[in-house]
Amino acid sequence: MIISCDDPELSPSQEPDALEAEGCSVSSTYYSESIEQHSTSSELHSPTLRDYQAILKKYWGYDDFRGIQRDIIESIGSGHDTLGLMPTGGGKSITFQVPALAQEGVCVVITPLIALMKDQVMHLKKLGIRAAAIYAGLTHEEILVTLENCVFGGIKILYVSPERLGSDLFKVKLGHMKVSFITVDEAHCISQWGYDFRPSYLKIADIRKIKPEVPVLALTATATPQVVEDIQDKLSLNPKPASFNVFRMSFERKNLAYIVQTSTDKHTDLVELLEHSIGSAIVYVRSRRRSKEIADLLNENNLNATFYHAGLDSTTKDVRQKDWQADRIRIMVATNAFGMGIDKPDVRMVIHIDCPDSLEAYFQEAGRAGRDGRPSKAILLYNNSDERKLQKRIADNYPDKEYIRKVYDHLAYFYQVGIGSGAGYTFEFDVDKFCRAFKHFPIQVYSALNILTNCGYISYTEETENKARVMFLIGRNDFYKLENLTELENELIIVLLRNYGGLFTDYNYIDESFIAQQIGLTLPQTYFVFQALDKRHILHFIPSKKTPYITYTQRREDGDKLIIPPVVYEERKQQYAERIEQIISYAKNSHICRSRQLLKYFGEEKSTDCGICDVCTNFEPADDEKKSAEECILALLNDRQKHHIRELRQLNLERKALDKALEHLLYEEIISIDGAYLSME
Ligand SMILES: [Zn+2]
Repeated sequence: MIISCDDPELSPSQEPDALEAEGCSVSSTYYSESIEQHSTSSELHSPTLRDYQAILKKYWGYDDFRGIQRDIIESIGSGHDTLGLMPTGGGKSITFQVPALAQEGVCVVITPLIALMKDQVMHLKKLGIRAAAIYAGLTHEEILVTLENCVFGGIKILYVSPERLGSDLFKVKLGHMKVSFITVDEAHCISQWGYDFRPSYLKIADIRKIKPEVPVLALTATATPQVVEDIQDKLSLNPKPASFNVFRMSFERKNLAYIVQTSTDKHTDLVELLEHSIGSAIVYVRSRRRSKEIADLLNENNLNATFYHAGLDSTTKDVRQKDWQADRIRIMVATNAFGMGIDKPDVRMVIHIDCPDSLEAYFQEAGRAGRDGRPSKAILLYNNSDERKLQKRIADNYPDKEYIRKVYDHLAYFYQVGIGSGAGYTFEFDVDKFCRAFKHFPIQVYSALNILTNCGYISYTEETENKARVMFLIGRNDFYKLENLTELENELIIVLLRNYGGLFTDYNYIDESFIAQQIGLTLPQTYFVFQALDKRHILHFIPSKKTPYITYTQRREDGDKLIIPPVVYEERKQQYAERIEQIISYAKNSHICRSRQLLKYFGEEKSTDCGICDVCTNFEPADDEKKSAEECILALLNDRQKHHIRELRQLNLERKALDKALEHLLYEEIISIDGAYLSME
């Protein structure tokens, strides 16, 4: 267990606040001159459409912008607060990356998705654009170096996770930065009405106060009308009237058929759906364990599948994602961790075997099918037990307040934080160990941690994988002075210098397995060499690590004295319950076009029947057809034995009629189902 402020390597005796303050004062005096130079040379000209197009062509190779990209870019480029609503795949990142390059200074991008952040930084660097990121899990030194590079090092795009916005170090450095504009990605996270509210997003308002002259660009791929209004309110400098330019792309997806399929035996139906289709597919499930189970099931049925969830190590995730992307693997079975930042155009089918807990989440995940505009399907497998499961999630996500207080107290025993102390400390969080020690269940613990985070007592950051990082502590010219380097140490330094630039000025991510392979060592042996060099202060080596963190954002209270206000508990719970109701009613409403139901939810009132969803293409099986299907089923079950549901398929009945007959018999309790086995009551 490690106690620290920003730096997991820091010893507990060091005072973290003092470190931050020291870092700030040194650089604030040092860089003040260069700032003034910056500001005098700015505002000479504001970029024109031609400038933007030239940048687009130079870095991305496109001739022109798509959809509302141009409107958004021109709006933010001319200094207006701007809100862009673009569905996933609409080319959101171009709308801030292009104007960021056209203007002087740093574009600060706030986004909660650390994996996506790292991915974009890597991608931008490949294009030759100077980008950097700050998030939980970096050391204090790394953050300091990055921020100083922003103040005068020519960084154009700085990604920041919202938790970092509150740190004094960040605020002070931001004050010295020449900022072109602030981008708020996933802007719906700022709204308490949204499905993904993150209290740390409210800190963006403070950031705006530091840079009142800097415009803000808010982007989201999912927002109900209420949330759109709330985003503007929360981001505005003066509460009302909000002066945002709002650009909206229709969320309609003409090539995507939304289908809700009633399914009593989801496993069999899933296999059948995939057997009778071709092309790339994603199957979404609720839990990590289930992702593996379902992938196994598919493989047993000769369907080429793998699984993906946040708990896998990054190499495995990478390999699987690439295999799927390159069609070496057809089906990806995944939790909701899969999809962000993945842009595979030819996904033909997205199947939800478990129901997500909001239409926002459903729409985003379903929307990963058919980006290439060709006919595709988004299928939700649903039955009556889903409704009960969805209702249960309300209690899981909002355990009672006594329980939340108990978890808070147990955390303090776990980390030995006394009442009145702990403020600013960060701990690694091992949920299994915690649950074993205090006899908790992970689901409720996570819920309690999230609520405590929303109350502002702690900040819980989900597990993030940090790649290994290295920076040299000696100058390039000091290498020849080094004595007694072993052959391996020497070789490792050479491999580093050959493959990574900028190691003298900044921490760089390195690929340990690549380096191991280059020197011809195993991974643990390579580690050993790194540690030896670290000990001699030749370089600073931070091994890769995957871990969630808990930070005490306030000093520890007595659990009984915690204030859990309605705005983070009762109101949130109510909204969550409403979203659950909405998705249940979507699944059960089989008389309004699915596409229209979804678009209406997102505020598009005027839409037409899509003609391809299950409602639009539905035909009721004739009564006598249903009746004869019922008779066939009853005849089969008449022997009073249990029959696997698959046997029904061998009856050669029309599919829809069979489903309806089954549904009716179960509803009337004439027959019953136990797992995949049917029997007569
Ligand atoms: Zn329709």
